[in-house]
Amino acid sequence: MPAPDAALARNADGQPLPGIAPVAKQQGAYVARVTAARAAGKEPRPFRYHDSGLLATIGRRAADYRSFIAATAG
Ligand SMILES: Cc1cc2nc3c(=O)[nH]c(=O)nc-3n(C[C@H](O)[C@H](O)[C@H](O)COP(=O)(O)OP(=O)(O)OC[C@H]3O[C@@H](n4cnc5c(N)ncnc54)[C@H](O)[C@@H]3O)c2cc1C
Repeated sequence: MPAPDAALARNADGQPLPGIAPVAKQQGAYVARVTAARAAGKEPRPFRYHDSGLLATIGRRAADYRSFIAATAG
């Protein structure tokens, strides 16, 4: 599996995951687990993204936050 923004990964529904930092962080950690598991002769479980929302900064004075609990922008 190539690392984050350079790769297309899909969620459990088959939809493509967005090119954002939370996805990149989880994929990076997964690549490390895959590497360690294969070095030990094991095959890790498939990648699964845990969506805990996103926070985007837009310019210097605006941000957008979304999660399954709440969404706000300002
Ligand atoms: C303008 C902008 C704003 C964004 N804002 C948000 C945001 O608000 N929230 C959010 O969640 N996400 C945001 N993103 C997306 C987020 O930055 C990316 O999804 C995330 O950084 C992808 O991580 P990555 O590790 O795949 O790539 P990167 O973070 O791009 O890391 C790749 C690294 O590899 C290095 N590299 C490249 N080629 C080589 C080479 N040949 N040898 C050695 N090193 C190399 C690069 O220098 C870089 O350090 C934004 C992206 C952009 C461009």
